[in-house]
Amino acid sequence: MKIILLGAPGSGKGTLAKKISKEYNIPQISTGDMFRTCVKEESELGKKVKSIMESGALVPDEVTIEIVKDRLSKVDCKNGFILDGFPRTISQGEALENISQIDKVILVELDNDIIIDRLSSRRTCPNCGEIYSLSELENEVCKKCNSNLIQRDDDKPETIKHRLEVYEKSTAPLINFYSDKLVKVSSSGTPEETFEQVKAFLN
Ligand code: AMP
Repeated sequence: MKIILLGAPGSGKGTLAKKISKEYNIPQISTGDMFRTCVKEESELGKKVKSIMESGALVPDEVTIEIVKDRLSKVDCKNGFILDGFPRTISQGEALENISQIDKVILVELDNDIIIDRLSSRRTCPNCGEIYSLSELENEVCKKCNSNLIQRDDDKPETIKHRLEVYEKSTAPLINFYSDKLVKVSSSGTPEETFEQVKAFLN
């Protein structure tokens, strides 16, 4: 099964993608995670995208399409994958049509004020990628691998607003682009409740 997760930053795509990946045994392909790894490793690409990501803007389409094309050619993607954070522009969506045929698109919906709350209190493990909300933590340490959690630079209040504007302008038009294979789920409940809606659609 080849799936795209669409939705604003902070709508819960990452958490949902991890659950789908586990349940259906398909890799989660997060362009955001791929870029963050490049930044951490200080690769050429990492140096190029660091300041773009910190500002909340989008990495240029050509660069993004290239890394996704390369990733989707790997053997673990043969039986399907879940794209989390790609495509983010119509050009990326068009390019993807020439790379692979997508079966389903899931739009994760959440009100902007809840998104802002959730992103401001999001903490991420720089080692294993696990995501937490401050309210579920006694201290800012990863429950899985014991690393100190961080607040992503782009989860700081000044950047969140910009990321939401970028989403509205560049990414939301993809909702129409995929209208024939798209289903909407609400992530205003718990992650489990959101996942139940997804399973009902996919099964
Ligand atoms: P995310 O973790 O998906 O919120 O992505 C973090 C940042 O990585 C974004 O704000 C962009 O700067 C960059 N990024 C991730 N995916 C894409 C994409 N498909 N196109 C352009 N930039 C992206």
